[in-house]
Amino acid sequence: MKGLVVLCAFLLAAQCERVFFGDQVLRVNVETEEHIKLLQAMEDDHYWELDFWLDPVSSELPVDIRVPYSSLSDVKAYLNAYNIPFSVIISNVQEVLDEERTEMEKNQMMERSSRSFNFGAYHPLETIYSWMDTLVAEHPNLVTKEEIGRSYENRPMYVLKFSTGGTKRPAIWIDTGIHAREWVSQATGLWTANKIATDYSSDSSITSLLNNMDIYILISANPDGYAYTHSNDRMWRKTRSKNSGSYCVGVDPNRNWDAGFGGPGASRNPCSEAYHGPSAHSEIEVKNMVNLVKNHGNFKAFISVHAYSQLLMYPYGYSCKAVPDQPELDSVGRAAVQKLTSLYGTRYKVGSICNIIYQASGGSIDWSYNLGIKYSYAFELRDTGRYGFILPANQIIPTASETWLGLKHLMEHVRDHPY
Ligand SMILES: [Zn+2]
Repeated sequence: MKGLVVLCAFLLAAQCERVFFGDQVLRVNVETEEHIKLLQAMEDDHYWELDFWLDPVSSELPVDIRVPYSSLSDVKAYLNAYNIPFSVIISNVQEVLDEERTEMEKNQMMERSSRSFNFGAYHPLETIYSWMDTLVAEHPNLVTKEEIGRSYENRPMYVLKFSTGGTKRPAIWIDTGIHAREWVSQATGLWTANKIATDYSSDSSITSLLNNMDIYILISANPDGYAYTHSNDRMWRKTRSKNSGSYCVGVDPNRNWDAGFGGPGASRNPCSEAYHGPSAHSEIEVKNMVNLVKNHGNFKAFISVHAYSQLLMYPYGYSCKAVPDQPELDSVGRAAVQKLTSLYGTRYKVGSICNIIYQASGGSIDWSYNLGIKYSYAFELRDTGRYGFILPANQIIPTASETWLGLKHLMEHVRDHPY
């Protein structure tokens, strides 16, 4: 195991931040099943410390890999030796991260001096949490903030509830940021929460929706992981729980749900980015969501937002069999994507998780669907790999705005098709 490259700021409480000098993101265009097998072998062998942004699953889908500088020449030689075509999509990961950081810091200064909040910027968890209080204060008759529990590292998990009254009205669930490094997801959740609050009463569709239903938005479904992406490792994906018997930290919270738990498309290796955890709902963050949704008992839609790849997916992931509601979920999904695309022409694919990407067990929307929440969907937002997880902040508002059109279509359909 080679040591990770970290920069330590000893002046500030010995906090070490991982750096990615010279790391590259390669896009590998697999052409044959043989290529996939070779790439899967590379993924299973942790020697090169590769970080697969997109996994090798089918010869129709590209594979994106962040390759540490120290492994770069070996990996390229290996790919060339087997005639596997690839291109460099990010030539120096640290350079892109530095730009992101500089912009974020500039924005923080601007926000402090103007006492404003910029939705077109990325924010640390504390800023997001204090912004929630502002939103609640500005819309006291519509928005409340509820703590659904604490994370592994004891951070509160806050859900924003949009409600115009009633008790346990039919409701829509939206979570963002379950994978920590998918920053545009949390940023879209935030923009969306603000959009709902400001459009209520001026947009007749949102008004009629909220006069009949509640909306819940959990902006940071993995607060420990998100905080860690700001403080230590921008590329962190999992939770931050300790794994007994392993030096590797964290569980993939989207392989941890009780839906085909431990099946294909999840790993039993605690060092894997897709580690499913010791048991279903072992992660307190997942458990908190499960408890809230079950105790509420009247959710009609469950929408989980990820990045990247530009996909709108429905169950199942753990099985490739069509769900009973497949025709409806597919046609509603396609109509939602048409609305999304109408804004800037951003192209999305629609399908079941298993058919559109790969078999993946323990996912949230499979769990919600099996619980009886028919309208269970997962978004993979922008982009298709130019920046991957490091999507520039100037794409946040365009991404959120187009996604909103898709989301709104889904929510209207749910409102108009009670079950
Ligand atoms: Zn994700």
